[in-house]
Amino acid sequence: MLELLAPYRQSTVSKVKRWINNVALTAFNSLVLQLLFAGAVVRTAMYVTSHHLGVLNMVEAPSWAKLLATVIFMDLMLYVWHLLNHEVPFLWRFHRVHHSDLNMDVSTATRFHIGELAMSAVIKISLVFFLGATPLGVLIFESALVLCAQFHHSSLKVPRWFEAIFWILFVPPSMHRIHHSVIIKERNTNYGTIFSTWDRWLGTLLTDVDQKKLRIGVGAYQKPDKLNFNHLLVMPFTHPIK
Ligand SMILES: [Zn+2]
Repeated sequence: MLELLAPYRQSTVSKVKRWINNVALTAFNSLVLQLLFAGAVVRTAMYVTSHHLGVLNMVEAPSWAKLLATVIFMDLMLYVWHLLNHEVPFLWRFHRVHHSDLNMDVSTATRFHIGELAMSAVIKISLVFFLGATPLGVLIFESALVLCAQFHHSSLKVPRWFEAIFWILFVPPSMHRIHHSVIIKERNTNYGTIFSTWDRWLGTLLTDVDQKKLRIGVGAYQKPDKLNFNHLLVMPFTHPIK
């Protein structure tokens, strides 16, 4: 704004066109940064596999069993990490960026603060190290994660019969919608990402909610014009809210 008010010299090409490029490049860079996090996780899996480190490298088991164990273990750990994101005030500062979305659709699945992504990358790297996960196992887990997250955040109208079958093992949109409720008691439930079993077994499942009355978002953030990109970036560093 300052340089607009007191320009050193006049533009020779359209500022808007330059800005579109520069903003696109900035968005692209953060995408690369995300890929870097993912790359670091896969690279760790390659390292532990070639050096025979971690729990899975100590046991004799067929590779499909190790793959399955990786997906199940990583999803359980993600459940714990997600729960901590809600219960630990410092982590909630970052995670509330995701929850402040006023509607839910497939784009909500990737609406995260870069700080949360960085922290979860560090956690994932440590888990891969401990487990001795294979690169393929990590790849399958990460792909399943994206697919499931995009599905249960989506505004897709899912047939009832499909939900009824799907939810025996996995998280359907109706279950995750409750998790995005403005009511804190409803929000602090249904933490699962891939499997719905963790919530069922560990006592954090909530299904008995009128879906039509659900209000999505965070109580303190109800004004759309206060939820622009810049607001989202600084949100973790502003006042704490429930
Ligand atoms: Zn959450």
